[in-house]
Amino acid sequence: MNNALEELVRISKYYGNNPEYVIAGGGNTSFKNNNHLWIKASGNSLATITEEGFAKMDRHCLNRIAEKSYSSDPLKREAEIKEELHLCIAGSTDKRPSVETSLHNLLESAFVVHTHPTLVNALMCAVNSRKETNLLFGNEALFVEYTDPGYVLFKLVEQRISEYKKAFGKEPAIIFLENHGVFVSAHTCEEINRHYENISEKLNTRISSPLPSTELQYADLEDYIEELSYASGTTAKGFYSRLISYFVTDIQAFSRVNKAFTPDNIVYCKARYMFCESEPNLIYKEYLEFEKEHGFPPRIIGVKNRGIICLEESEKSVNTVYEVYLDLLKIAWLAEHFGGGKTMTDEQITFIDNWEVENYRRKIAKKG
Ligand SMILES: [Zn+2]
Repeated sequence: MNNALEELVRISKYYGNNPEYVIAGGGNTSFKNNNHLWIKASGNSLATITEEGFAKMDRHCLNRIAEKSYSSDPLKREAEIKEELHLCIAGSTDKRPSVETSLHNLLESAFVVHTHPTLVNALMCAVNSRKETNLLFGNEALFVEYTDPGYVLFKLVEQRISEYKKAFGKEPAIIFLENHGVFVSAHTCEEINRHYENISEKLNTRISSPLPSTELQYADLEDYIEELSYASGTTAKGFYSRLISYFVTDIQAFSRVNKAFTPDNIVYCKARYMFCESEPNLIYKEYLEFEKEHGFPPRIIGVKNRGIICLEESEKSVNTVYEVYLDLLKIAWLAEHFGGGKTMTDEQITFIDNWEVENYRRKIAKKG
């Protein structure tokens, strides 16, 4: 048992430390036996996790969650499930199990590594995500269309897995989730690594137009930043690179990256991003207009031919916002190989905005 937990810690750190797989504390891992499941507790990052960072859960209790019925009001329902999850903790109860715990419990394989890799999301956030996934992976993987995270997603994945099992006589080792990421499961960590390698290899065969350099260059944004930090009272920082340059040429180019691709994007960058073509003295006025229209001030502003500005409370959180938005830009670029990027819809965005669980993550991310 201890050995398995050590392996779990090792594989978590391996993927957690690789920015191609895990950005800003996203993703989670688990190990299970017949009775218990150890899952990453919220607020821990895979990169630095120890055995203490996992919540030990009673699997029989988790199985019961799957059978009960809950409120039809999404917010009430998610609160009920949160309570239920808490009651299934077999170890220290001050840990909050990941909201994706039930998904991990569904799979019979001992190890599960769930990540949001850039390359995978280029396919998952593309117009032809389903078609291209089937072409590339066939029966090797299960594709699950986007639905609201939490209980609804759990129920949909449960149904899709049972259909897959009926058709192929085994559970899927690879489960792709549209506009979200991938679940890889196996009985050993070596097999997990093999699956991930297979995924990267297959996707890379399709990338004919590699990413432009993301190396940061001088960003000629000081006049805009001065206006913004003075007026808004937040920390603002400018960024410019070859990759960024392609998306700020005009509002048309920016429209490919002006909305979130995944729930994770919303957690850190909010759902919509502003574009500014005006002189510096007008940027704060436009900032206020954006806030009025969307109900939140922008965290990302693209400035025509100059670069992007990230805004947040502190230097540290500004850098996290940049890291997540950079991933969004990479996804937008790479998704062109699969029919072009497909952002989340307004309805999908509203659900996330209202979701308490995500607010909690936001709070923890800031504290950490
Ligand atoms: Zn996830």
